[in-house]
Amino acid sequence: MASPYNLAGHVAIVTGSTSGIGQALAHALAAEGVNIVLNGFGDAAAIEKDRAALEAKAGVKVLFHGADMTKPDEIAAMVAFAKDQLGRLDILVNNAGVQFVSPIEDFPIAKWDQIIAINLTSAFHAIRAAVPIMKAQGRGRIINIASAHGLVASPFKSAYVAAKHGIVGLTKTVALEGAEAGITANAICPGYVKTPLVEAQIADQAKARNMTPEQVMRDVILDAQPTKKFVEFDQLAGLMLYLASDLGASANGAALAIDGGWTAE
Ligand code: NAD
Repeated sequence: MASPYNLAGHVAIVTGSTSGIGQALAHALAAEGVNIVLNGFGDAAAIEKDRAALEAKAGVKVLFHGADMTKPDEIAAMVAFAKDQLGRLDILVNNAGVQFVSPIEDFPIAKWDQIIAINLTSAFHAIRAAVPIMKAQGRGRIINIASAHGLVASPFKSAYVAAKHGIVGLTKTVALEGAEAGITANAICPGYVKTPLVEAQIADQAKARNMTPEQVMRDVILDAQPTKKFVEFDQLAGLMLYLASDLGASANGAALAIDGGWTAE
């Protein structure tokens, strides 16, 4: 059956795609025939193995750029690399992100700066470099992976919640600026997804609260999520593909929750 998304031959950058959500989104795009620039940290040999495997499986071009999302020059170089190597840039998925949990009075200043840089400012730099390419093409799709924490807060996550609310505001602004040029910008706001980022929180909370990891998952993490289920990768990929395709042309400036009802409360 033909895909409803018609994305074959498009080019996408997915930041933070060596792990978790970004990796899953990159795989979903590649399966639709999209050529991909992967990005993120990790063991070089493992990254190259995954890159080559995805390229072979999906039959698309898959490149890797190791830009550090705290470094504006490296981010701009990654966007230029996509255009130079793959000829265009249709889809930018700003996904790289980190977390740190602490009461605000003890929150390390360096951690605040790092989270704002990776979870918010990196998207500004990537969008700033991508928009001229997308404007010249007359079409572009910017998809920012925010969070339920872009819509509501939780205690002890000051930097993360501030960055994610910030990215929702950035999304709206870019949506207005790009609208007539055929560029849309939207934020996907997931609830909890079981990735290394969340696995680390489960371990930390279990230690802090003297609970088992199973108790933390049920009574702490999924307490916020009315479905009591983690959000799955393919549920996020489905919304991303919709937004990236022509079906999503009128979705612009939205912050779309996929959180099992968390932010409905
Ligand atoms: P993850 O830890 O599995 O992956 C994070 C990715 O970002 C990795 O590829 C890592 O190498 C990369 N990264 C980190 N710092 C970087 C840097 N300085 N430069 C380049 N790459 C860097 O995390 P995840 O859970 O897949 O999270 C991905 C995104 O989804 C984040 O923005 C996160 O805030 C968001 N999110 C996650 C959840 C969840 O429950 N897991 C929920 C809502 C939103």
